[in-house]
Amino acid sequence: MNDPISRRSVLTRAVPALALAGALASVPLVALADSAAQPPAAGPLAAGFKDGVYVLPPLPYAYDALEPSIDAETMHLHHDKHHQAYVDGLNKTIKALAETAVDATPALLSGLEEDLSFNASGHLLHTLFWSIMAPASSGGGGEPAGPLADAITKDFGSVEAFRTRFSKVAAGVKGSGWAVLAYEPVGDRLLVTQVKQHDLQMVAGATPLLPLDVWEHAYYLKYHNVRADYVKAWWNVVNWPAVASALAAARGH
Ligand code: FE
Repeated sequence: MNDPISRRSVLTRAVPALALAGALASVPLVALADSAAQPPAAGPLAAGFKDGVYVLPPLPYAYDALEPSIDAETMHLHHDKHHQAYVDGLNKTIKALAETAVDATPALLSGLEEDLSFNASGHLLHTLFWSIMAPASSGGGGEPAGPLADAITKDFGSVEAFRTRFSKVAAGVKGSGWAVLAYEPVGDRLLVTQVKQHDLQMVAGATPLLPLDVWEHAYYLKYHNVRADYVKAWWNVVNWPAVASALAAARGH
């Protein structure tokens, strides 16, 4: 069979990394592993997988739609080059793991596992990142409402307090990483987490709802070294209804 990446091998190999990211927490993994069918809808993440391989989903808006908060050149490079590289790296790693002999050295396997975690998390976080932004003309910016606003108020005191906390966490990422609002299901709690690279310091079992990429490739062309200005402008393009939908999905309703 010419297709080197069978549905089963993709799922059984990739699921640990994806589960760690919490990104597919609402998907029945056992059912996935035993089925040749496409997985059930996993919200915006579903666009990142098609016909047995991970794919780069198109942006849900034009490259210049988030101007002036995020410039078109940055969006082109970020989406077409950086995100594509994680997709390619993930597919390559999945294939390499599938073809790795049973007597492979622990060092070889460890390297591939590191690549798997990095690229899978990079792909899924970017896919989610595009989906939780929108131009002002399509509802970007403003304030959260409904159960999302209630949850934010419960766990952070107020929406403004949350915004301040999240901004400081984003500004404080050392090197490359993300600030992520995540849902932790055991305590029915929202967490602001600081993720290093794409996959380090992730809270197991928590589902990312609102990730903010603070790698330099996300802002350096326009904001240079002033990451705080990028974070401040980014709030103007947050798609709160998309975040509310992600919370509802994570809660199972
Ligand atoms: Fe990025």
